[in-house]
Amino acid sequence: MEIKEKIENLRARLHQLNFEYYVNDKSLISDFDFDQLMKELQDLEEKYPEFDDSNSPTQRVGGQVTKNFETIVHKERMYSLGNTYSEDEIKEWVDRITKNLDGRIPSFTCELKYDGASINLSYSQGDLVRAVTRGDGTQGDDVTSNVKTIPNVPLKLQGDYPDEFEIRGEIVMPLAGFEALNKKRISNGEEPFMNPRNTASGSLKLQDSSETAQRPLSCLLYALVGNNLGFTEHYQSLVQARSWGFTVPETLVQANSIKDVLDYINSWEEKRATLPFEIDGIVIKVNDLRDQELLGFTAKSPRWAISYKYKAEQVATTLEAVTYQVGRTGAITPVANLTPVLLSGTVVKRASLHNADQIDKLDLRLGDEVYVEKGGEIIPKIIGVNKNKRGVVEQKIKYIDSCPDCDTALIRIEGEAQHYCPNISGCATQIIGKIQHYIGRTAMDIEGLGGETVSLLFHEGLIRNTADLYSLKADDLLPLERMAQKSVDNLLLGVESSKQKPFAKVLFGLGIRFVGATVAKRLATHFSSMSNLIAASEEELVSVDDIGERIAQSLVNFFKDQSNLDLINRLASSGVQMENESVTLASNVLEGKSIVVSGVFESLSRNDLKELIEQHGGKVSSSISSKTSFIVAGEGMGPSKKAKAEKLNIEIKSESSFLSLL
Ligand code: AMP
Ligand code: ZN
Repeated sequence: MEIKEKIENLRARLHQLNFEYYVNDKSLISDFDFDQLMKELQDLEEKYPEFDDSNSPTQRVGGQVTKNFETIVHKERMYSLGNTYSEDEIKEWVDRITKNLDGRIPSFTCELKYDGASINLSYSQGDLVRAVTRGDGTQGDDVTSNVKTIPNVPLKLQGDYPDEFEIRGEIVMPLAGFEALNKKRISNGEEPFMNPRNTASGSLKLQDSSETAQRPLSCLLYALVGNNLGFTEHYQSLVQARSWGFTVPETLVQANSIKDVLDYINSWEEKRATLPFEIDGIVIKVNDLRDQELLGFTAKSPRWAISYKYKAEQVATTLEAVTYQVGRTGAITPVANLTPVLLSGTVVKRASLHNADQIDKLDLRLGDEVYVEKGGEIIPKIIGVNKNKRGVVEQKIKYIDSCPDCDTALIRIEGEAQHYCPNISGCATQIIGKIQHYIGRTAMDIEGLGGETVSLLFHEGLIRNTADLYSLKADDLLPLERMAQKSVDNLLLGVESSKQKPFAKVLFGLGIRFVGATVAKRLATHFSSMSNLIAASEEELVSVDDIGERIAQSLVNFFKDQSNLDLINRLASSGVQMENESVTLASNVLEGKSIVVSGVFESLSRNDLKELIEQHGGKVSSSISSKTSFIVAGEGMGPSKKAKAEKLNIEIKSESSFLSLL
């Protein structure tokens, strides 16, 4: 009883702190203390799984893996909205509904049209029970476990909420988070995401919810749905929803006349550039819920609401030059250099051209007057050319055919838009980029060595690849500029200690295309050693969770190259980790088995048990699915787990029968 109470108190406190933070904007304790409480709760939950709660604050970290999202039919259809683009169209809309209301002009609300992925949240007795995407409006995907990781989605409500209701909103990725995420991806050698909206909806469909937890998402609510919830006005219902823990942006207002509506639209025309998230317009709704009911729906959208879309801001400027960047994987990106021009509050000098096809499609010439637009994407893009202003002499842009850095002829892999410099072992930008990636914080994290120094060491002829780092000597370094004894010592110490870094980091550090940190970890867990990984066929690779064809092919190609194998051998003989610790298996009786551990055990701790499974070749999985081979259940296995196991017809083994198996 005491433990149960302790767990419940911790949960309540964490829910409360979350509420204060996201609704009242108050931090009652430091992040550190918050993390401590969370940790304490996690430990207790781990130890006492019988007090399972699917809405515990610990759900925020994710961990559940969903292969196929279940399709759910919406109780109430999720409609789209009619669009308007001008004041006149708004007025026409108001005229139409006024007629339908026997000449009465209703009152309105104005909201921003948040640009993300729509979501329908269901609550029962104050608990979040389900989160479903809009899908085709009639049915969507159950993405509950991913949505639970979003920090401002309340898992438990506060105050005086209705027993049963649904609430709809938009899951967005705020711009700052989007940019930080892309920075991280670029430094990991991954493709940056195109725009926040697609990234937000993609994040909801990740199979591993702990990955969704890493995505900076936010949920903004815009409509309450349910029967007899006790409200007569849309505005009032959303204000109430705030007090239960939902984020309803303060930009929601009441508008009592067309003039109020138009003022709202105009006031956001420019201010929208300063919002922390993207919007794609304004939504105007009839405020009175009875009026809404009187007006009803067309086949596609409510008659009582409409959106107003701003024109994306465009400016004209001159294309001065096209330059080309070489990435560390050799990928070439063309960049338009523009005469600087002001666009939505920032000076734009460059625009991405993505690839050669893009240049062809636009039929660009140097000196062209081009139109630049900031649409959904952060990086401005060229959307067209003013051909009327073009003289006769302008030359078509000829895409480079050799690397701007090393002059090697570029190649283009079939089916890919990008050109590549194939001179992997001789192209300075690529070499430096690769070494910088290897030493980077998310990879080997070599202290005492920075990106600038890598470049210096390369140009001094001291390193040509990552393995060369391990033969650096103090005598080579001391004569270099800005290399005092202390910095040399630090550098060498950093290199030396990198030999202790786990295999997964080494694998990631190699900078294989499409092998980001998460993929590297998955591969390391699955194959345990570099030699196993090198020996794996494409079929074996794609059979691993989350490893697709693209990644598999990239790996096979990488290991086909003798110079890569030589590099790996040199790294290995320098003492860099090429296998997971303790890979010597006790046996392989559990090979190919996916096992879930639940409850507490007599003779071993849960962690010992998990280790034992791995030592015998099995895999520990955190959640029960149809792929689960069996469950090892101790004292107090959670009832929800038990029910799920029974439903999927999965065998439950006792501690002793499991041990006798080994
Ligand atoms: P559309 O997809 O253009 O037809 O617009 C309908 C979508 O706009 C809805 O599915 C919502 O996801 C989204 N939306 C964003 N903000 C709001 C808002 N404040 N009110 C209603 N819908 C919104
Ligand atoms: Zn090159």
